[in-house]
Amino acid sequence: MTARVKLLKALILGAPASGKGTISSRIVKKYKIEHVSSGDKLRDHIEKQTDLGKEVKVYLNEGKLVPDDVMIKFMITELGKVNNKPWLLDGFPRTVAQANALWKVQPVDVVLNLVVPFEVIIDRVKNRWVHLASGRVYNIGFNTPKVEGKDDDTGEDLVQRPDDKPEAVKKRLEIYESVTRPVIDFYKDKGILTQFEGRTSDEIWPKVTTYLDPILSK
Ligand code: AMP
Repeated sequence: MTARVKLLKALILGAPASGKGTISSRIVKKYKIEHVSSGDKLRDHIEKQTDLGKEVKVYLNEGKLVPDDVMIKFMITELGKVNNKPWLLDGFPRTVAQANALWKVQPVDVVLNLVVPFEVIIDRVKNRWVHLASGRVYNIGFNTPKVEGKDDDTGEDLVQRPDDKPEAVKKRLEIYESVTRPVIDFYKDKGILTQFEGRTSDEIWPKVTTYLDPILSK
């Protein structure tokens, strides 16, 4: 007789550039679960120039939040497409209105909150450069490109993500403090939030696996 394994619905929270992307990729790879990232999905729409992409582009470029009604409809539809697989939600919800809407249709089981010191985040973003065509990311001082400002493989120019520019980052961190912080309290009140502290993803990762192994490894 096979026991029916419950399909875990997990959510990851963390400030911009807290390493949420890195930890999420490691989680989905190790535990083979579906990664549902609102930022990735929106960037994909922008790249493909869909109606939604055109509507949201200006918000992303300025580091502002896409309006709740648009986000809620979009993400609930996206989650509905994940069939019979555990998932890790990343980047949504970012407001209490979004958290409430999600809770009504797809209550999450566990919430991981990454806690990284503010000065580490500022430093990391200032030093992050991307090669747009391939999506390769460089961090000055950590994985520095061989030639300053150039992609190692193609020699093409590296750029800063528009929302990594200092003004946009400041805006994103302000929004995070005022609008997203209450989302942490929302899940704390439900008793399903766990905090993971550290200055780097390598410091945080072992804590995450210690937590998830008993839940997800069979
Ligand atoms: P991320 O890659 O998660 O940092 O998302 C990049 C950008 O997409 C954010 O700065 C917002 O402009 C937009 N975005 C992503 N998720 C949401 C959300 N849940 N609510 C509103 N805007 C979002």
